[in-house]
Amino acid sequence: MTAADVLSPRALPPLAGSTEPDASFADFIWFRTGGAAQWLVRPRDVADLAQFLAALDPAVPVFPVGVGSNLIVRDGGLPGVTIRLPKSFARVAIEGVHIRAGAAAMGITVASAARDASLAGLEFLRGIPGTAGGAVRMNAGAYGRDVADILVEATVVRRDGTIETLPAGDFGFRYRHSALPPGDIVVEALFRGTPGDKAVIGAEMDRIAAEREASQPLRSRTGGSTFKNPMGHKAWQLVDAAGCRGLTIGGAQVSEKHTNFLINTGDATSADIEALGDEVRARVKAQSGVDLEWEIERVGVKL
Ligand SMILES: Cc1cc2nc3c(=O)[nH]c(=O)nc-3n(C[C@H](O)[C@H](O)[C@H](O)COP(=O)(O)OP(=O)(O)OC[C@H]3O[C@@H](n4cnc5c(N)ncnc54)[C@H](O)[C@@H]3O)c2cc1C
Repeated sequence: MTAADVLSPRALPPLAGSTEPDASFADFIWFRTGGAAQWLVRPRDVADLAQFLAALDPAVPVFPVGVGSNLIVRDGGLPGVTIRLPKSFARVAIEGVHIRAGAAAMGITVASAARDASLAGLEFLRGIPGTAGGAVRMNAGAYGRDVADILVEATVVRRDGTIETLPAGDFGFRYRHSALPPGDIVVEALFRGTPGDKAVIGAEMDRIAAEREASQPLRSRTGGSTFKNPMGHKAWQLVDAAGCRGLTIGGAQVSEKHTNFLINTGDATSADIEALGDEVRARVKAQSGVDLEWEIERVGVKL
């Protein structure tokens, strides 16, 4: 298959939802940079997505995107099909001590639904500005808890269009990692809460929100924690010790507020942001001998 075939509308199977060619990532992902998705596909429902993927040439790469809070899309764009789940995938329902969330539901929505049902244990999702699907993929977490602690099962549409509900144990969760194969799309997650006091749960969520506001550049164009915390270290301390606070390349800057965050000060390209991250890695390695590993996922083609 050639790039031209991938670009051709004829390469796409029928879809009840919408398809958009050359769709800009910079319009919606957190960094507000990056090239275009060759095709941005928004399925209407799970069956629509499954039929589409079953009929799609297996050679076409498929990439699910949430709200891009952990993503650098390179300036040359992303070949193939990018799947963005629309609002119809964002329903949240309480089932006893369980919270069933569509993969497009935001972390704050899931945490708030759990609080309203007096279910504790999901408060940390209040501080993670991504979708439930992205959180499962990344094993997102904060304050000593992560998705692996609360996930019961999740429903996935495989690259070949088969639909499977997998127990949490099948996701191979590690720190900010799942073993979900690329191209597999989480469409729904079932989380477990524990009965608690609504006021206490709400107070904890408020504390998390305030703490984040004080310590992170939440109003900036950013991608969250740039590097994973290496065993026995805090990434931000290593970056700071290497003298990188405020360091800039083009329009990209190491946040002054939190040194494990990179920000787009206005006119950054994805190349600026990635080059800055790599420069920080090199300086940290030279200063402390530690190899920082990217937490932010980088996808697409360099210009
Ligand atoms: C200000 C800020 C604070 C943050 N704080 C934290 C934190 O405390 N803890 C933490 O863990 N993270 C944090 N992050 C990072 C980010 O919010 C999480 O990684 C989040 O889970 C990503 O969700 P998303 O929907 O934005 O995914 P995206 O960034 O869109 O995608 C990330 C990965 O998930 C995959 N993905 C997305 N949706 C699906 C799906 N439906 N099915 C399968 N794969 C999918 C993508 O293909 C990609 O591989 C923060 C980010 C920001 C900007």
